[in-house]
Amino acid sequence: MSTLITDTNELTHFTAVFSSHDLAADIAPRLSCIEVEALAGLLRALGEPATADTWIHEHATDDEIGDAHYQGDTLDYLATIDPQDNLQCDSCQ
Ligand SMILES: [Zn+2]
Repeated sequence: MSTLITDTNELTHFTAVFSSHDLAADIAPRLSCIEVEALAGLLRALGEPATADTWIHEHATDDEIGDAHYQGDTLDYLATIDPQDNLQCDSCQ
């Protein structure tokens, strides 16, 4: 650990505060990709990989096509299905 960090209680406090899922859900979408990666890297360095993944996941919910964490839009895969189409009956349509 860095010799510049002398108060590990502050690191413990930082990881405890930033482990809040509600905080990640509120803030992560507002961070840029670079900002959330920096925060996630710090959390991983502090031994909090699950918290880092939570921040990346919550951030990704607001990324758009072309952004580093874009997950795709599940609504693109939804299609309306008309059950009458499967009957192939002229009088039903
Ligand atoms: Zn991103």
